[in-house]
Amino acid sequence: MDTRAPGDINMTTNMPDDLLTGYHRFRANRYAREVERYHMLAEGQSPKTMIIGCADSRVDPSTIFSAGPGELFVVRNVAALVPPYGEATGYHGTSAALEFAITVLGISNLVVMGHSSCGGVAAALAARDAKPIGRYIGPWVALLNETRDALLAANPDASDEDLQNALERKAVECSINNLMTFPFVSEAIAEGRVRMDGALFSIIAGELIWRDPDSGEFSRVSKS
Ligand SMILES: [Zn+2]
Repeated sequence: MDTRAPGDINMTTNMPDDLLTGYHRFRANRYAREVERYHMLAEGQSPKTMIIGCADSRVDPSTIFSAGPGELFVVRNVAALVPPYGEATGYHGTSAALEFAITVLGISNLVVMGHSSCGGVAAALAARDAKPIGRYIGPWVALLNETRDALLAANPDASDEDLQNALERKAVECSINNLMTFPFVSEAIAEGRVRMDGALFSIIAGELIWRDPDSGEFSRVSKS
């Protein structure tokens, strides 16, 4: 069997230095250590958990949960948002990943993970009185408009920092509510096949705040 990757005829190092260094470290460490696992995973994946996270470089779910290859099915976008269920028009990357995870992979845990200092949430807040940011960012974070406006109406004197913190939490709620509008999600949860959680990651403290799926309350997770 020819196991060469496409283009694997000549050897090249013509790529960004930091990526090449990281790749060499991966080959020497993780791949060397887990080569059998990679061989097994080449046959297929069966992750138990899907994480919907933010694209932010500081909040990689595999790092936070010490997960290895094959363990987490992850989709990351700006602010860990989920659009509501709707017509299959346009390009629904997050919805497609969700559909695959639930209906094909049969994952049993679904987690929406937001985080502190989220630029996407800040963009949603900034758009309250300025022009939306960017050609694509503005319309995407507008998924939070209703949530943001309700928050502003209820807290007219809140500082920007407090609003940011509150909207980061409410954005997780918003994604969870939108997830429930997908029939294949709500059915899987009603039938007990899937558990849905929310979380927030504090970058400075390296801490997780977890949303109780029954009460909706957020609590700090024990660190050991
Ligand atoms: Zn973010």
